[in-house]
Amino acid sequence: MTMIGDDLQQVRARIDQACAQAGRDPTAVRLLAVSKTFGPEAVREAHAAGQAAFGENYVQEGLDKIAALADLRAGLEWHCIGPLQSNKTRPVAEQFDWVHSIDRLKIAERLSAQRPAHLLPLQVCLQVNVDGGANKSGVPPEEALALARAVAALPQLQLRGLMAIPEPAPDFAAQRALCLRAHAVFEAIRAAGIALDTLSLGMSGDLEAAVSAGSTMVRVGTAIFGGRARKPA
Ligand SMILES: *Cc1c(COP(=O)(O)O)cnc(C)c1O
Repeated sequence: MTMIGDDLQQVRARIDQACAQAGRDPTAVRLLAVSKTFGPEAVREAHAAGQAAFGENYVQEGLDKIAALADLRAGLEWHCIGPLQSNKTRPVAEQFDWVHSIDRLKIAERLSAQRPAHLLPLQVCLQVNVDGGANKSGVPPEEALALARAVAALPQLQLRGLMAIPEPAPDFAAQRALCLRAHAVFEAIRAAGIALDTLSLGMSGDLEAAVSAGSTMVRVGTAIFGGRARKPA
């Protein structure tokens, strides 16, 4: 087993364990491998170990990797999880499968208009700012329902759920409290009649807390690929 394969297995075991502890079905939580700053060979290795879904923060880096791994394209699912500017939406609409970081209608409208008709609708999540902390990206919770209604109406997008990046917290209880805020917004939107099935929540350091709070997709980089020299944008 390669090192990445080994680390993947350990992360999957952590997810299974967290699900068992929370009384949840382990198949209800997907693993998104965050490959930002790592090269295409690392993705190739993870794919060989059974991982299909990969997350990228930086649009150009993601596009370069998608191109370098064109031979595997049918077996890969590419998720854009970083902040998205309106002048970068076209290649994302054309090349990615998912976008997690929609925080305003204008970006969603551009992605819908630019999504090629021969592809499946782009699968999207709204990024919600649950703590108002240093992480300023994301729609405020009180505006999330209105944005969800508007995005759900766009033809070439399929609204799947919410994404949140809670501020780092010192322990499980504090992590879980922040994760529960995201879950509450998710449930409120569902209660309003909008069908969401994805809560993208949890990273290397807080995936157990996220799973206990109802995450359906954890985004894990460091615990799979190792430490990064560059800080996330
Ligand atoms: C980098 C990043 C991750 C992965 O973080 P790790 O702590 O390395 O697991 C998850 N989500 C987003 C949005 C990121 O930018």
